[in-house]
Amino acid sequence: MAHLDMRRPQNTNGDFYVDTTCIDCDTCRWMSSEVFSRVDEQSAVYHQPTNEAERLAALQALLACPTSSIGTVEKPKDIKHAQQTFPILVEENIYHCGYHSEKSYGAASYFIQLPAGNILVDSPRFTPPLVKRLEEMGGIHYMYLTHQDDVADHEKFAQHFQCDRILHADDISGNTRNVEIQLTNLDPFVLTSDLLIIPVPGHTKGHTVLLYKNKFLFTGDHLAWSESRHQLAAFRGYCWYSWSEQIKSMRNLANYSFEWVLPGHGRRFHADVDTMSQQMHKCIELMESL
Ligand SMILES: [Zn+2]
Repeated sequence: MAHLDMRRPQNTNGDFYVDTTCIDCDTCRWMSSEVFSRVDEQSAVYHQPTNEAERLAALQALLACPTSSIGTVEKPKDIKHAQQTFPILVEENIYHCGYHSEKSYGAASYFIQLPAGNILVDSPRFTPPLVKRLEEMGGIHYMYLTHQDDVADHEKFAQHFQCDRILHADDISGNTRNVEIQLTNLDPFVLTSDLLIIPVPGHTKGHTVLLYKNKFLFTGDHLAWSESRHQLAAFRGYCWYSWSEQIKSMRNLANYSFEWVLPGHGRRFHADVDTMSQQMHKCIELMESL
């Protein structure tokens, strides 16, 4: 819960505010860009919601915030309704889970609803309102983990939903040693005819991405839209394993066709196949220059 006595003075006056516990993860700013912006390296409210859509987006950001740093002066009577809107539809059968976890520095988690069994991509916070919604939507068959940083509450999800977790062996450590499916080499792994797991060593050694229907690419911390650069990018300052390997992985990834980049950290990007391909080449050029 946010604390009014820790309200940042950078907030504009009114009901919504961000307190000083904000970790600058960017989640509220992309979920509710009409209300939140970045001031002095943390989030702040720059515009109070003035209609229902803005208010709902601000409440969704409040619930998604990994550190509960967003608060309202008035107790929000519509918070239960906002909880019911998660997971939030992105497109077709793809949803954004919200409820980001501080354990993964606020990484986004996604949900793919499928007749053969749903897939949770990376780990949101294990919290009753979300767990109940995921149960209503058919539970979880696979929990796919892009890499070691964004596993957060994987054990609780695995236990509760009896799902099989998937993570590359090179990213397995003490806390993930019981992961059911451990991928072992650098070949693409066919999970189903529509789902391909592609190893992309670089950010970490065992990082993989998930391509669904040659349309949706779940990229973890390998690739994202950069707000500051206005292009697709990888983040050299957050490359833990090997930058040259990450460039190689990006070149390989550019051979695939997709329309959506859905990252853990950084912004989403949606474009037609040709624009995406141009963006991938721009991204590789940028990486080679860094
Ligand atoms: Zn990471």
